Amino acid sequence: MTIRVLPEQLIHQIAAGEVVERPASVIKELVENSLDAGAHSIDIEVEAGGAELCRVRDDGTGIAADELALALARHATSKIGRIEDLESVRTLGFRGEALPSIASVSRTTIVSRTPDAPVATAVSVVDGVLRGPSPQAHPPGTTVEVRDLFFNVPARRKFLRSERTELGQVERLVERLALSRFDVGFRLASARGTLADHPPARDERAQDARVAAVLGEEFIAHALKLDHEGAGLRLRGWFCMPTYARSQADQQHFFLNGRPLRDKLVASAVRLAYRDVLYHGRQPAYVLYLEMDPARVDVNAHPQKLEVRFRDPRLVHDFLFRTLERALAETRPLQNAAEAIPAARFSIPPRGGSAGSQTSALDFYAALGNGVRDQPNAALAEPDAAYPASLTIPGAEPSLAHPLGYAIAQLHGVYILAQAQGGLVLVDMHAAHERTTYERLKASLESHRIAAQPLLVPVALNVAVAEADEAEAHRALFDELGIELSRSGPAQVIVRSMPALLAAADPAALARDMLADLREQGSGGARQALERALGTMACHQAVRANRRLSVPEMNALLREMETTLRADQCVHGRPTWSFVGMDELDRLFMRGR
Ligand code: ADP
Ligand code: MG
Repeated sequence: MTIRVLPEQLIHQIAAGEVVERPASVIKELVENSLDAGAHSIDIEVEAGGAELCRVRDDGTGIAADELALALARHATSKIGRIEDLESVRTLGFRGEALPSIASVSRTTIVSRTPDAPVATAVSVVDGVLRGPSPQAHPPGTTVEVRDLFFNVPARRKFLRSERTELGQVERLVERLALSRFDVGFRLASARGTLADHPPARDERAQDARVAAVLGEEFIAHALKLDHEGAGLRLRGWFCMPTYARSQADQQHFFLNGRPLRDKLVASAVRLAYRDVLYHGRQPAYVLYLEMDPARVDVNAHPQKLEVRFRDPRLVHDFLFRTLERALAETRPLQNAAEAIPAARFSIPPRGGSAGSQTSALDFYAALGNGVRDQPNAALAEPDAAYPASLTIPGAEPSLAHPLGYAIAQLHGVYILAQAQGGLVLVDMHAAHERTTYERLKASLESHRIAAQPLLVPVALNVAVAEADEAEAHRALFDELGIELSRSGPAQVIVRSMPALLAAADPAALARDMLADLREQGSGGARQALERALGTMACHQAVRANRRLSVPEMNALLREMETTLRADQCVHGRPTWSFVGMDELDRLFMRGR
C-alpha cells in the first residue's frame, strides 16, 4: 500500500474533522493508525497528561522510508484512492488528516521500519519544517512521538484541563480501545508507571477478564452473552441483566466493525429493547459489537467519525432491537441463579399435587385480569406445559418442571415462600403479578385483538400543529391500537374510542404520550407509548399487598411466572423473585452437612 495525496475532487467529498483537541484525541488518531497497520501490540506513553508527550509505538507494517515525509502531508493516505473507496471504508482512518494536523501543533517525530527494511527511518516536524529522513534503530513497526502539544497555539494550550483530567480522558480512551479489539494488546504508561496493561485476549475467558478489568467484576457477574446473526448482520457481546441497571449511561459501549459509535439509531434501538424491563430513568449497561459489510454503512458522516449513516437504517434498527429484546426476554427464572443452585437434594412433590385446584386459580385470575378474559393462560390450561428448554440447572434433573417450586406460605401479605429444589424461593407477589399481567396484555396487543371501546363523551385536546399533523398521518395506526383519534382543528384532536383493555386509562394523557412518542420515534413510538400505558394498567391491576392468597392461587402465580417472558423483573425492572439455597440456610444455623 502506498501513500498518495488524494485528488482534489475526492477531498471535497470528505467530511473534514477537527482531530486535535486534547491529548486523548491525538492518541486516538495514532492508535487507530497502528490498528489500521495491523499491529498486535500497542504501547502508549504519556507525560503530564499528554501535554508534554504522547508516544505510541506499534508492531504494525510500518511506513516505507521514501513515504515517511508524505505521511505528514495533508490529505495523504494509503487507505483510499478513489471516490468508490469512500463507499466501503474498511479502515478506521481514511482522510489523511491526522498526522499533518498533529504535526502542525506540536513537535512530532515518526520513526518507522517496514519488515524488509534493514534499518528504521525517522522524520520530524518542528515549526512546520521537516527534518530527515535519517536512519535510526527501531524494530519493525512505527513509533510516533508528539511533544509539547499546542506549544505554538497558546490559546489552545490554555484550553487544556488539569494534567489529572487529561490523563483521565486518556485512560477512558484506552479502556474503549481495549474493548474494541481483543486480539490486540494495549499498554498505557506514564511517569507513575504502568496505568493499564491488556495483553491480547484470544479465548473467551481472557475476553471476560478484559471486560471485567475495564468495567468491573460486577458487570461480568450480571452480564449475559449474546451472539446472533441475521440479514447479513451480526451482533455479539455482553448485555446486563436489567437488575444491574445504572443511573448513568457510563457503561454503554457499542462498536461497529471495531469502531466505537455514539449513534442515535443504536441508542434508540437499545432503549426500545430494554423498555419493558427498566425502571424509569435507569440506564442499561452493555458492550456490543455489530459487524456488517462496510459497503452498507457510510463512515464519512461525522467529523470525529463517532456517528455513521447506515444505508438501511430501518433494517439495522430492527435487527438490533429485536435481537436484544429477544435476548432480554429469555432471562427467565433461575437462569442467572443457576450457578448458585447446588445439586438436587430435594424431592419434588408429585406433579399436580399442589397445583391441583385449578378452579380457584382460575377464579383468582378472572377476578384480577378483567380485560384479558380472551387470553387463556397456557400455564393454567396445561399445568404440565413443558418448561422452556433453555433452562437447565447444573446437577439437577435436566427437565425440572417447576423450578420456582411449590408455595408453602405467604409472608406478611407481601411475599410468597416456596419450597424449590435446593432451597427456598421468595416471590414479591405484586411485582410478579404485575409482570405476568403486563405480558398478557401485551400478547393480546400483538395478536391484533385490541378491541376499541367508544368513549361516552369524546375527549378533545389541544396539541401542537405538528402533533395534529402526526395524528392525521397515522390514523390507521391509532385505529389498529384501538384508539380513534381524529383532527378537529389545526391544533386540536378528538379521542372517540380507547382500547377496551385500557378502558380505565385517561384518554387525554394516553393520546398526548402517544403523539409525543410518535414525533420522537416514528411509527414504532406510538406502539411504545401504548405499551407504556399497558404497563401502568398492569401495575394498577396487579394484586395488592396484604391480599391473602390461598396456596393454589400462589402456585398458579408461580406456574405462570415460569412460562412468562421476562419474569425475572417487574415492569419497573425490580426483581420479582429471589432464591436462598439450603447451603446458605445451613450456614445460618452453623449446621454441618
Ligand atoms: P489516515 O489514517 O486517514 O490515512 P493519517 O494522517 O492518520 O491519515 O496517516 C497518513 C498515512 O500514514 C496513513 O494512511 C498510513 O499509510 C500512514 N501511517 C500513519 N501511521 C502509521 C502507522 N502507525 N503504521 C503504518 N502506517 C502509518
Ligand atoms: Mg489516521
